[in-house]
Amino acid sequence: MTKPIRDELRQIPLYVPGKAIPDAVKLSSNEVPYGPLPGVAEAIASAAGDVHRYPDLAVVALRDALSRRLGVDADRLVTGTGSVALIGHLLQAIGGPGGEVVYSWRSFEAYPIAATVAGLRSVRVPNTADHRHDVEALIAAVGPDTRALIVCSPNNPTGPAVTAAELDRIFEAVDESVLVVVDEAYREFVTDPDCPDAVERYGDRPNAVVFRTFSKAWGLAGLRVGYMVAAPEVAEAVRRCVIPFAVNGVAQAAALAALDAEGEMRRRVALVASERKRTVMAARELVPEVPDSEANFFWLPLGDRTVEFAAHCEGLGLLVRPFAGDGVRVTIGLPEENDAVLEALRRFVEAGR
Ligand SMILES: *Cc1c(COP(=O)(O)O)cnc(C)c1O
Repeated sequence: MTKPIRDELRQIPLYVPGKAIPDAVKLSSNEVPYGPLPGVAEAIASAAGDVHRYPDLAVVALRDALSRRLGVDADRLVTGTGSVALIGHLLQAIGGPGGEVVYSWRSFEAYPIAATVAGLRSVRVPNTADHRHDVEALIAAVGPDTRALIVCSPNNPTGPAVTAAELDRIFEAVDESVLVVVDEAYREFVTDPDCPDAVERYGDRPNAVVFRTFSKAWGLAGLRVGYMVAAPEVAEAVRRCVIPFAVNGVAQAAALAALDAEGEMRRRVALVASERKRTVMAARELVPEVPDSEANFFWLPLGDRTVEFAAHCEGLGLLVRPFAGDGVRVTIGLPEENDAVLEALRRFVEAGR
């Protein structure tokens, strides 16, 4: 007997967890290599005594802290179990039959999944030859059924961020009835002054939605905390979709402690940015098409040799993230880890000659 399951869900690839390889250097998930920020482990330990209680449903303390930090009213902020969950909730809030969502491709793997679950059709716009968002093509892809245009900046997995001129152009060209969603999961790593902070520059636009996360620069990937800034009406709609008590009390306490360690976060991010510059420049001598990155990873556009390179790295105890037929995303790690990747790449390229 057939079960009453929506047909389109069958198209969603199931998540295949990466192989657990003990002692391998993990450069496949864009985590920061330095451990939790100072004060975070202590905050977690002290919150542990309250786990028999439900957490604060409205996440008041964390939302207030974010509100002060970002200069945004708390009614424009929504927290969730990672920004991936919030992206899903936003698309649910605007989803349903006949709707479309436009985004670049290749970009974040979660977008097609969240779109399909929300009953939205994905319109994918190929990146430019230099692995950036094709802004004019994105604008041209917006049609009468488009409910949102997603801009991933910096773009996961290719690395470039959009410039202020590009984002200005999008906001000017797209009708206010279409949400312009800017996914800034890697905002803290951006060093190019031409690449804007979307909360600062567009936070007050009625159709702007910006996603941020504690998973990357703030070092809390394992606790699942992300947030969203949007117009109060949009924020309220997303809040209705969030599962009650989503962000648990330990995670709320840890996120607050992480915000208190902002200076140390900035110091770590600066180390990552300087390693990124060094690693990208060295990688480019071997693979000239490596694009600039504003994030804590870089892109090796290896095409048909993608899977082969990932296997070669695995053999050397290095876990990287292949996107078959397209390229490999490599997280910036500690200096010696980045050196190991460069050495692996040098051997791979030389063997291919
Ligand atoms: C890592 C990442 C996220 C954030 O994921 P969380 O659910 O907050 O851990 C969001 N968007 C992009 C593009 C990412 O790479």
